[in-house]
Amino acid sequence: MNKHEDDIQVDETMLFARKGMGGSSVEPGGADLHTHTIASDGMTSPAYNVRLAHLAGLKALAITDHDTVLGVPEAIEAGAQYGIHIVPGVEISTVEEGIDIHVLGYFLDIEDAGLLERLANLRAVRDRRNEMLVAMLTELGIPLTMEEVVSELGRPLSPGETVGRPHIADALVRRGIVRNMKEAFDEYLGAGGKAYVNPPRIRPQEAVRWIHEAGGAAVMAHPGIYHRDDLVIQLLDTAPWDGIEVWHSDHSEEDAKRYSEMASARDLLQTAGSDFHGARKGDVFHGALGGRRVHEQMVQQLQERSEQYQAERRS
Ligand SMILES: [Zn+2]
Ligand SMILES: [Zn+2]
Repeated sequence: MNKHEDDIQVDETMLFARKGMGGSSVEPGGADLHTHTIASDGMTSPAYNVRLAHLAGLKALAITDHDTVLGVPEAIEAGAQYGIHIVPGVEISTVEEGIDIHVLGYFLDIEDAGLLERLANLRAVRDRRNEMLVAMLTELGIPLTMEEVVSELGRPLSPGETVGRPHIADALVRRGIVRNMKEAFDEYLGAGGKAYVNPPRIRPQEAVRWIHEAGGAAVMAHPGIYHRDDLVIQLLDTAPWDGIEVWHSDHSEEDAKRYSEMASARDLLQTAGSDFHGARKGDVFHGALGGRRVHEQMVQQLQERSEQYQAERRS
């Protein structure tokens, strides 16, 4: 047994059970290519995610925090101990036609100075968005400050950690304003919610370019949650994407089938990810780690793509 096996106590509700829960996209081994950590708005450390990946029987795991790659080095270190292949990643926040579009980047150079500066600027926008959001809530009669949201986390922010909407949702649950995370998003924080704000951000095409310039492969995250397939198609046809996240915790079987067809028609890679954020009060947001997975050959293909961009970067 690995000496680190028992270092981290695991809350089993965060883990996708290998048997029982079903889901046609799940097979033993494989890669979960979409997970968050405390480096952004997840609840678990990068090493914890790796431990869960090990328990879920995964061969590979991507760390894809919002607008930061700061969780990746810890995961790589833990991955070496557990024998899990860690895919360095990021999930960049963009906006198109007023809709939040997320762009996943894989195998990008996490030390690229240009990339790090660009991501730092995006995090500054996120902070501004949070301030606007709590101001809206206060106007709606729910007095709340970002200081309260952060202090109620019950732990210090880790270096480079950005506070996001799930943290604010927690505060709403704690105040009894909503019953759970989903209600917080449906009623207040998500698109169409009473306190929804969306400050100017970069467009998806720009994020694709940034990822390529940092030597990574660019994948459209969870197209199903945008509820705008016309926009998805328009975006797919106006930027040099490398892939589509076909299988996601919030995608139905029909969604997956549709996006798989869109990917095939454009010769794009088809990825899968749980979008694991940890659990809050036993509520696993999006999905349990390992709940969506692809064959680890996909990791190879993403790496090959990224090597092309890295070669272009050098020439
Ligand atoms: Zn996302
Ligand atoms: Zn995500």
